[in-house]
Amino acid sequence: MKLSARLARGLVWALALVPLVFFLAGLGAHDFSSISSVLNMFGRLTGVLGLALLLLAAALSARVPGFDQPFGGLTKLWHSHHLLGAGALLLLMAHPILLALSSAAFGYHLPLKVLFPPLDDIATWSGWLALILMMIFLAPSFSFFGPPNYERWKRIHALAGPAVILALVHTFLFSRTMPANLDVLIWGLFALLGVGAVAWRLVFSRAGRPKYTISAVEAVANNVVELTLEPKRPEKRLQYQAGNFVYMTPLDKQLSAGCGEEHPYTLSSSPTEPHLRIAIKDLGDASRAIQSVRLGTEARIEGPYGRFFPVNGDPKQSELWVAGGIGITPFLARLRHLKALDQAADVHLIYAVQDEARALYADELQALTEAIEGTKLTFHYFYREGPISAEFLLQTCPDLDQREIYICGPLPLNKLVQDHLRALGRPRSSIHTEEFELL
Ligand SMILES: Cc1cc2nc3c(=O)[nH]c(=O)nc-3n(C[C@H](O)[C@H](O)[C@H](O)COP(=O)(O)OP(=O)(O)OC[C@H]3O[C@@H](n4cnc5c(N)ncnc54)[C@H](O)[C@@H]3O)c2cc1C
Repeated sequence: MKLSARLARGLVWALALVPLVFFLAGLGAHDFSSISSVLNMFGRLTGVLGLALLLLAAALSARVPGFDQPFGGLTKLWHSHHLLGAGALLLLMAHPILLALSSAAFGYHLPLKVLFPPLDDIATWSGWLALILMMIFLAPSFSFFGPPNYERWKRIHALAGPAVILALVHTFLFSRTMPANLDVLIWGLFALLGVGAVAWRLVFSRAGRPKYTISAVEAVANNVVELTLEPKRPEKRLQYQAGNFVYMTPLDKQLSAGCGEEHPYTLSSSPTEPHLRIAIKDLGDASRAIQSVRLGTEARIEGPYGRFFPVNGDPKQSELWVAGGIGITPFLARLRHLKALDQAADVHLIYAVQDEARALYADELQALTEAIEGTKLTFHYFYREGPISAEFLLQTCPDLDQREIYICGPLPLNKLVQDHLRALGRPRSSIHTEEFELL
């Protein structure tokens, strides 16, 4: 992981500790002589830290183009968002249990009041409702009921909004996490971050998304098309780096699925082209429907996101690229860009596919690597050679210990290649991956 990404993630976690520090400072004369008082302190502490993690997770969900850069790209930023959310859920589940246990020494009626508050106890009920909503909207993320349907997952995840607001109501009504009025100040600032980010994402970001028109649909294989999109207002066209991805929202009501849905796709075009190109493999209902999208369909584009390739990388650095299936798109964009700039690059591309028929863009990749000085292409066919082995990597690219390595493909391939590289002694910091899965 790059230093800036470590720093950005570290900063987020450090921020989560701010309310905790004030909470601990306010404990001052807390009596720790009994188990009850220790449990009470931990009960309140889990509440404070859990709320901080929840609000920071909300803040990271904003998806502001460019904001993902210091984190190493949006997929890495989502990873921090997931960890914060999971941490918040665990801590907030422990919170009422610890508080109930802490009052058990004073008879059974107090714990019962925490666990089953009277109907008019809004302060406690708002906390319970927040927790119940969290359990509902986070359960699919943990795949408790099998791999979730993405659109349903997204609708359920929208419960995060009311959960955050109820958690804040709970905290403000109790108002006893920090000394004096620091409660209001600290949680107010955190709420501004979390709620502001969600409001930006749901309301304000929409206005800035440029509109494009689909002007060509080319079949690349029987289940892959490449769309060409022309900007409706050329002066507003998207500026991006090769290898970036966007969220595309097609607006054709006649599509059998996916109209109005935003899906992430890597741009396969060179940033020097006046239009965008996106290659889409049929992997589910929306990506299947788009295979027969009508020319002239409008699409909203949001982005760019991602930092697969370094922004101002050293042009002399030699690289090994490993692509699998539709994971060829960021590499195709880079090659198209190098060709457009007439630039040389010391790059070896290994393209892993099932068989010849599934080698997308085979002719164009061949032509590009022949035309661009320093680039080499090797196909790996699963039906002939089985899974990629460490020996294959070494034979194909004997100097891989000198190269920065970029992998984009299905998760099993991604993992297998990483395992081989690690076993061959390549440090984690020299391996860069792009995942096409965000959940
Ligand atoms: C960074 C990134 C770059 C990608 N680039 C490409 C590309 O260049 N070409 C290509 O064909 N595919 C690409 N994908 C995959 C593409 O986004 C999914 O195939 C598509 O969204 C599937 O939607 P569906 O409704 O057809 O299928 P579904 O059956 O709804 O989804 C299949 C899987 O795709 C993922 N997915 C679905 N919708 C979304 C969404 N809105 N956001 C995030 N993940 C989602 C989920 O993991 C889900 O399990 C990329 C994905 C990511 C995250």
